[in-house]
Amino acid sequence: MIYIHIPFCKQKCSYCNFHFSTSLNFKDEMLRAMKAEIQLRKDELHNKTLKSLYFGGGTPSILSVDEISALVDEVLRYFSFEKDIEITLEANPDDLDKHFLKQLAATPINRLSIGTQSFFEADLKLMNRAHNASEAESSIKRAQDSGFENLSIDLIYGSPTSNLEIWKENLRKTIDLEVPHISSYALTVEPKTALESWISKGKVVSPKEEEQNREFYYLSDFLKEHGFEHYEVSNFAKPGFYSKHNSAYWKYQEYLGIGPSAHSYNGFDVRSWNVANNQQYIKKLTNKILAKEEELLSQEDQFNEMIMIGLRTMWGVDLSHVKNKFSDALQEHFQTEIKSKIEEGLLVIENDHLKIPEKHWFMADGIASDLFVV
Ligand code: SF4
Repeated sequence: MIYIHIPFCKQKCSYCNFHFSTSLNFKDEMLRAMKAEIQLRKDELHNKTLKSLYFGGGTPSILSVDEISALVDEVLRYFSFEKDIEITLEANPDDLDKHFLKQLAATPINRLSIGTQSFFEADLKLMNRAHNASEAESSIKRAQDSGFENLSIDLIYGSPTSNLEIWKENLRKTIDLEVPHISSYALTVEPKTALESWISKGKVVSPKEEEQNREFYYLSDFLKEHGFEHYEVSNFAKPGFYSKHNSAYWKYQEYLGIGPSAHSYNGFDVRSWNVANNQQYIKKLTNKILAKEEELLSQEDQFNEMIMIGLRTMWGVDLSHVKNKFSDALQEHFQTEIKSKIEEGLLVIENDHLKIPEKHWFMADGIASDLFVV
């Protein structure tokens, strides 16, 4: 699978620490550089038939449909697509006008991941999103009217501008809109963001963990009552609508990341990442030089990654994989660490898979990191 990172956004959301620029001055150079990277790295994936292509960002919907199509065509010069390939475009509600959607529906893009975040004005204002509450709703309807059935929306819970009642209303609206996939994250205060600065100056109160905990479990119960499967800590899908792209990440499959700051993984022991700087990326790729660094993952790194990713999913960690892949010393460490957690009920073994019971998923990262080899 291939991930393409579009490093541009209209404006900076207050909580975001992803890599992007709000200036489009070098957009054409960037697109040329990305095409050069696709060509230069065409032999890195063993599997030349893709089951997923994902445009993330940044804001991929900031591009014109012609620019998006040209990137798809570039990928198709070196790879083929499986018959039922999933091609996702992350899109912001304010970009999804009728004209854009009509053109997009005529391309191979067959899944939209919409950055809705909330249907409430106060939340969107605090987050400094480029869209308003009415666009949050209307963009989803327009996408559906344009023929996009495979839709995901992002929702953020635990904002200081929200509470459980507002959150319930957000979820009711989501159900009414009949969206088949939802990714939902707690509002997190990242370093060097506007949100962090407002909180440190006392202009905004910090998100409360207790409230986030309540909203998380309400989310999970409510969506399951409405036919969703909670298949990863932050992801919910109606049957048949799991994200193929993310599911492949969580099953440690190889992927190629194109664009500044994009990561790649060879499915085994090498991970690489591109420079998170648009100018440096363009300069290198213009000279046909890759802008990436890579690391060889030690057994310990691979072990920690397997624990962190696997325990966040409903599939858990495959115990036969642990047995076949890791040294005796690591297996011993694993058995010792999981023993007390199983006794405490924080971990269970089912069908030869180690899992965190769903009622403890809010603490999944903490439980997983306690098992790490350091
Ligand atoms: S649109 Fe997405 S990537 Fe861009 S600033 Fe907002 S959250 Fe970050």
